[in-house]
Amino acid sequence: MSIEHIAIHPGDAGYDEARTTITSVAEPAVVLRPTTPAEVAASIGHARAEGLPVAVRSGGHNALGFGNIDGGAVIDLSGLDRVELIGEGRVRIGAGAQWGPAASALAEHGLAITAGDTVSVGVGGLTQAGGIGWMVRKHGLTIDSLVAAEVVTAAGDVVRASPTENADLFWALRGGAGNFGVVTAFEFQAQPVATVHFGTIAFALDDVAQLLKGWAAAMAGAPDELTTTLVLMPGFGDFPPGAMLFVCLAGGDTTALEPLRSIGTVVADDVSERPYAEILEEAHPPEGVLPVIGNTLVETVDEPLIDAMATAYAAGGRVVFLRSLGGAFGRVDPAETAFAHRRAEALVVSAGFLPADAPEDQIADARAVWRTIGDQGIGSYAGFLGSDTEDDIAAIWPTETLERLRQVKRTWDPDNVFRRNFNVAP
Ligand SMILES: Cc1cc2nc3c(=O)[nH]c(=O)nc-3n(C[C@H](O)[C@H](O)[C@H](O)COP(=O)(O)OP(=O)(O)OC[C@H]3O[C@@H](n4cnc5c(N)ncnc54)[C@H](O)[C@@H]3O)c2cc1C
Repeated sequence: MSIEHIAIHPGDAGYDEARTTITSVAEPAVVLRPTTPAEVAASIGHARAEGLPVAVRSGGHNALGFGNIDGGAVIDLSGLDRVELIGEGRVRIGAGAQWGPAASALAEHGLAITAGDTVSVGVGGLTQAGGIGWMVRKHGLTIDSLVAAEVVTAAGDVVRASPTENADLFWALRGGAGNFGVVTAFEFQAQPVATVHFGTIAFALDDVAQLLKGWAAAMAGAPDELTTTLVLMPGFGDFPPGAMLFVCLAGGDTTALEPLRSIGTVVADDVSERPYAEILEEAHPPEGVLPVIGNTLVETVDEPLIDAMATAYAAGGRVVFLRSLGGAFGRVDPAETAFAHRRAEALVVSAGFLPADAPEDQIADARAVWRTIGDQGIGSYAGFLGSDTEDDIAAIWPTETLERLRQVKRTWDPDNVFRRNFNVAP
């Protein structure tokens, strides 16, 4: 099959838009925009025949620009974005869809899938990283709602992966971060969710350590319906520093929110009942700064971790996110999917904001500050990683999981065609 009708080359109209994602601008030799699995297979075949390295792009939100590539072929799946109901609450979503439009389409049927906090993040990348959303404690990771996937392999075959079809591939797709083929569609079990109680409770910054301690104690007794993120914001321009607690209560009694309202001095509170699809927001990363990002999954939010977070935040220029896990997320057997760090009770994500032209020693200092927090975790979440060293790969997957992923890789992509990712070498 010729691919010229879906190819955008340097110099073509639209090339500048096609070579740009939210996180990167590159100089691909060609951007291919397939709209069927057969065209995806032809795209892979073309890249291999021409000796072009491949980047696979769904939403293009990967922080390292993995959905883009200099001198290679980008397979951009944005044309594969259909959302179809297939019966019994199941939904088939094209991998190139974005979560905001997907949530709106599901809302028309009173359904929702727990999947991130941002409108424009891609279904393809978020799902294969795991997917930490606003109902993670109630319904688990996004992959915990996945029932099957359609995949175009490195050899150009279109296969189905599910618990009963190519089960090794199905296991690896759930947390394997996009190493095994191009997923063209996912089938999920959606949940009947119309509205949730969602909003922000803002606190005075009078005692940061006490706020973190209070959050940990309140979340230890919280029902699965309640998922929260505590954010310590540095000051930006005209915006003063602040502490904000984002809450999402997906069912149950709103009295579940009360313990959180007494963890500090509340200065604002806009929690209200809202349609789930409307709580996803667009992110506006600060411009002109270099974020040095780290994340770590922690088993407990204990005193040493609280001290480290409070100290790093007090040093200035740093945002700290504390996202709750546990609940349904933690009841999945670690061997059930390739996302193995199921004992984590929380995810800490932090970025130090440096001037865009910060010298290496300043970057190293920001990384060293992060390590005072990061070294207390049990591993990392691929979705929020800002570097891809061997240590980063080892932090995403425990040794046994990584070895099992390698075996699957050897079966489905022995030549490592799909290596523009947190790579599992065959
Ligand atoms: C503003 C923002 C908010 C975020 N919020 C959340 C959140 O709330 N929860 C959360 O869990 N994560 C979140 N993330 C992280 C997000 O899940 C990852 O960045 C994810 O990789 C983005 O997916 P994408 O499809 O947009 O990215 P892309 O850059 O297109 O792809 C990411 C990786 O997946 C591979 N890939 C993508 N699609 C496919 C496919 N169909 N088949 C095979 N491989 C594929 C790519 O090759 C690449 O390696 C957020 C990121 C940003 C930038």
